[in-house]
Amino acid sequence: MKYDSNNIFAKILKGEIPCNKVYEDEHSLAFEDINPQAKIHILLIPKGKYISMDDFSSKASIDEFNSFFRILGEIPRKFCIDESGYRIIANHGIDSHQEVPHFHFHILGGKPLGPLLVKKN
Ligand code: 5GP
Repeated sequence: MKYDSNNIFAKILKGEIPCNKVYEDEHSLAFEDINPQAKIHILLIPKGKYISMDDFSSKASIDEFNSFFRILGEIPRKFCIDESGYRIIANHGIDSHQEVPHFHFHILGGKPLGPLLVKKN
């Protein structure tokens, strides 16, 4: 699968679409999800053109990788949910229902989140 440079997060990175930014550095950007599923719902994305965790974990440089996962741990502390708890989720591919084909982590918290998955079949 080829990276689609017109996906919505690519447009956010290019500044073509606004976002409520909560963090930015050389390698990563974090912003509020437009349709929050919890009191706090942040999306963390790498600035590089990676489709999903599969792509990122196999192609990102050590620098990108280390920096990204360091920030993934820092954002919950920034929002003071490290003690109350939080959930991080990254969808990859069709079965996961990934909608935006630019790698991202969801960071959810700020209230009890309930069980991880509702069993459908
Ligand atoms: P996925 O299903 O790909 O894991 O999650 C995509 C997420 O991106 C969804 O939670 C959705 O609400 C969010 N999203 C989609 N379009 C936009 C947008 O234009 N701005 C922001 N901030 N979030 C978006």
